[in-house]
Amino acid sequence: MNKAASLDQLKQYFFDALDIVPLPLLISEGIVSDNVEDGNRAHVFFNRAFKHQLGYTLDTMPDIYSWFDKAYPDPLYRQEVISHWHQVVHRAQIQGERTAELPALISHADGTQRWYAVTAQVDVAPNPDWHIVVLRDIHQLKTSLEETTHASLTDSLTQLSNRRGVNAWLKHQEKTHTMGVILLDIDRFKRVNDTLGHVAGDRLLVQIAGQLRQLTTTDTCCARWGGEEFAIFLPNSSPQKTAQLANDICLQVHHEGFLWQAKWHNVSVSAGCALSSSTIRHVDDIIQHADNALYKAKQSGRNQVCYDWP
Ligand code: GH3
Ligand code: MG
Ligand code: MG
Repeated sequence: MNKAASLDQLKQYFFDALDIVPLPLLISEGIVSDNVEDGNRAHVFFNRAFKHQLGYTLDTMPDIYSWFDKAYPDPLYRQEVISHWHQVVHRAQIQGERTAELPALISHADGTQRWYAVTAQVDVAPNPDWHIVVLRDIHQLKTSLEETTHASLTDSLTQLSNRRGVNAWLKHQEKTHTMGVILLDIDRFKRVNDTLGHVAGDRLLVQIAGQLRQLTTTDTCCARWGGEEFAIFLPNSSPQKTAQLANDICLQVHHEGFLWQAKWHNVSVSAGCALSSSTIRHVDDIIQHADNALYKAKQSGRNQVCYDWP
């Protein structure tokens, strides 16, 4: 047997072995033209799991450039993945790791998408200059984690944030901005439950949550604060903006009323507004001031907005 033939046999043996690995994997090779690597890499092998799960072949996806185009068809997401790759590869090389890893949402040939942990070899073996890339399907894990996270931050009845959701939202807010807080409480809600039933009460909570979503912008955090109490957090606000929104909500809730079993029922809310200041910085303190104002609104006859400005 000559040497070239035995190398070919070895290569075939290697590919056959990779073919029975149940994880999708590919091998790429640097493309050299005029003695210069052109940045692209040719695909030399897809194992059976790769072809089966992703649906691509060496013909339809001959190189890394076509991989990026097809696996990440959204140009913005593609750019995000590419720059993320540069970071993880750089970090892996600095730390002397042999592989770099990244979770990515990959498009299959049939257009379906799944999350994979992509592990790529980063240490360069000059001859042959082969890199192995292995994919692990983490779709189930990733989506159930996202669902669990969403559920833990959301009130299941109204789909507004719960208190944990508010805390998560607050973590991403600039501490220096003036924060407006509105606390809203449905007036005589117990009566709704007592006269129309608990199911009607629940429906009214959902209706008011919808009205809050309609009247606020996406930078605002709307939360179910307790039973029939809601809290609204307005980043970068002012007394005017906070008061305007609170009044709009009160008017809208009262104006729309509540339709239950073909009958319209009166409904109203009371609101208390407060704002952060040089002396009221912590959000718990702003909420306390809003709560004082809400108490005032209830004491003054309900269906109105009161303020506790600094
Ligand atoms: P006020 O105008 O002073 O706020 O009077 P209120 O009746 O609204 O206040 P109160 O605190 O006396 O009653 C609130 C009621 O809200 C009591 C509780 O059973 C009801 N509640 C709390 N959570 C829910 C819920 O998720 N669904 C329904 N249907 N009722 C709820
Ligand atoms: Mg209450
Ligand atoms: Mg109430």
